[in-house]
Amino acid sequence: MVKKIKNLYQCEVCKLHYKNIGWAEKCESWCKKHPNSCNLEAIKHAVEAKQKSY
Ligand SMILES: [Zn+2]
Repeated sequence: MVKKIKNLYQCEVCKLHYKNIGWAEKCESWCKKHPNSCNLEAIKHAVEAKQKSY
């Protein structure tokens, strides 16, 4: 179940936060089906990904 935290949505499996509930739900359904892999398409939209400086 996607969790709403203030104006963000959290995938309960990988704990990443999204501004868009659509991505949070996509991430979560991916994480549940593929626990050992990450959906890079969704993760790109995570708040954490945007804060990182590569
Ligand atoms: Zn996830």
